[in-house]
Amino acid sequence: MLLKRSDGRAAKQRLASAYQGLSGGGLDRRGFLRQAGLGGAGLAALGGIGPGAVRPAAAGPTNFGAPIERRKNVCTHCSVGCTVIAEVQEGVWVGQEPAWESPLNRGTHCAKGASVRELVHGDRRLKYPMKLVGGEWRRIGWDQALDEIADKLMAVRQASGPDSVFWLGSAKMSNEGSYLFRKLGAFWGTNNTDHQARICHSTTVAGVANTWGYGAMTNSYNDIRNSRTLVVMGGNPAEAHPVSLQHLLSGKETNRAHLIVIDPRFTRTAAHATEYVRMRPGTDIPIIWGLLWHVFQNGWEDKEFIRQRVYGMEEVRKEVAKWNPPGG
Ligand code: SF4
Repeated sequence: MLLKRSDGRAAKQRLASAYQGLSGGGLDRRGFLRQAGLGGAGLAALGGIGPGAVRPAAAGPTNFGAPIERRKNVCTHCSVGCTVIAEVQEGVWVGQEPAWESPLNRGTHCAKGASVRELVHGDRRLKYPMKLVGGEWRRIGWDQALDEIADKLMAVRQASGPDSVFWLGSAKMSNEGSYLFRKLGAFWGTNNTDHQARICHSTTVAGVANTWGYGAMTNSYNDIRNSRTLVVMGGNPAEAHPVSLQHLLSGKETNRAHLIVIDPRFTRTAAHATEYVRMRPGTDIPIIWGLLWHVFQNGWEDKEFIRQRVYGMEEVRKEVAKWNPPGG
């Protein structure tokens, strides 16, 4: 659990000084935002905050005897989805613990997960619209921010039509935030709204669904711990998905698995490898085809699996035959 105690001021007072001189607002928001019901309340909801939920905390005597409620939740910092137990005392999120019963994190958190409470309590959390003026961030009012954004959007729409804008949502949005974001795009007049995961997962879903018949992951962390050989190619879980690394390490240590890391960089994950293979950037496909060349050459493929679940393998064989590795 991370506890940070301070008087609420950042070391440098640039933000605090920027907050001074805040415009009182009074400017009208543009019609489309008002009609969509997506004013300050809507934008606050995009961040998972209800209107009126942001207010100054009043300092008072701590009641150490007050009961602590434990609420189960999920860390949103990466796709591992570790369980977070939030400890709430008199309505205040006072602490957090990783969940032991979660099969994913099994009583652990990485540094990112250990600091999720900072999203709410961090004294450097962004609470107001900020505008970069002359190289300095200045606090502006919600009305001004909404008006400026709306003015620019309206100018774009006037010049190029509603379909000229693509509304891309964030993976960090709550369901409610995503719903409102979609509504905003619809009120704007376009269906060009999507989730950022489309950028990575439209390709994987198409590829994996066509290959395995299912457009998502086909294995679990338990599979990782029980594998005899683990190959990480193009990934760096030690930094991107830190808690997942424990499953790789567990497989390596307790199951005596080989951990092969293929990467141009000697990453923190590569540091744990039993075999690190440095490749040149852009040679992923030749490496995979070269591996397959050896598999087919030696008859190591799982023929029954291919018979039951894979189609087009003859075409793959023909292509792989052209990729004989040096000396092959
Ligand atoms: S690995 Fe870290 S960042 Fe990812 S879900 Fe778990 S605690 Fe959060």
